[in-house]
Amino acid sequence: MYPLDAMLIDTHAHIFLEQFQTDFDQVLERANGVGVKHILLPAIDVASIEVCIDLARTHHDPDQGPVLHAMAGIHPSSVQEATDEDMERVRELAVHPCVVAIGETGLDYYWDHSFDEKQHAFLREHIRLAAQVDKPLVFHDREASDDLARIVAEEKSASPHPERIRGVFHCFGGPEAHTEKVLDLGFYMGIGGTYTFKNGGVPQNTATVPMDRIILETDSPYLTPAPFRGKRNEPAYVQLVAEKLAEIRGLSPEEVARVTTSNAARLFSLDLV
Ligand SMILES: [Zn+2]
Repeated sequence: MYPLDAMLIDTHAHIFLEQFQTDFDQVLERANGVGVKHILLPAIDVASIEVCIDLARTHHDPDQGPVLHAMAGIHPSSVQEATDEDMERVRELAVHPCVVAIGETGLDYYWDHSFDEKQHAFLREHIRLAAQVDKPLVFHDREASDDLARIVAEEKSASPHPERIRGVFHCFGGPEAHTEKVLDLGFYMGIGGTYTFKNGGVPQNTATVPMDRIILETDSPYLTPAPFRGKRNEPAYVQLVAEKLAEIRGLSPEEVARVTTSNAARLFSLDLV
């Protein structure tokens, strides 16, 4: 990889997890080296929100490396264990100035169906919180597209501030029918490593998505883009996603970087200077 002549943003990286404990600073250096100047940290539970806020507090100077930004939310897979007190803590932390989004929230039906109702309830709480604090939502969707789109639409129509219910479906991969629903809801799509997978179908499923609705992500340490698939993912690899998107869309990687960076800055109200 050689650095692009344009800034990149990794809008979704769990670099606070133990997989990065031994080489955290080098991971940030490599990201910085290829022009990744902002990295957003999606929380998975209350403890991780606090960790993300601490990281954002200590990594806010662009001259020192990528600027880190926190999110506040409980991942759908963590909802089974979560209490009402946890949700109350999410509300308290959501207003912190280092928190740029509510997430990650959403629905995950892949592992376990035993707490679907609780996932729905927590998802609705997160959506209402986002509208209240006027921060974008970061959605995780695994085999739950129909319910997720339905609940977002219901919350939008019941909300006193429907225009504030905005955000991204992270690691978006389709199916094609869902693409149209997400576009209709006015949300962005987070494109990551799965876009580079052979026979993954993501480029086809997202072919109708306009460039002004796409942001880039890695979902580190998961879903590593080709040709590093199977290894640990890290924010520097967001460049591989930009290059694949450029190849498929017939654009230069720099153009993809410029457009997706300005999209992310708009959605998350990031200061790019
Ligand atoms: Zn994630």
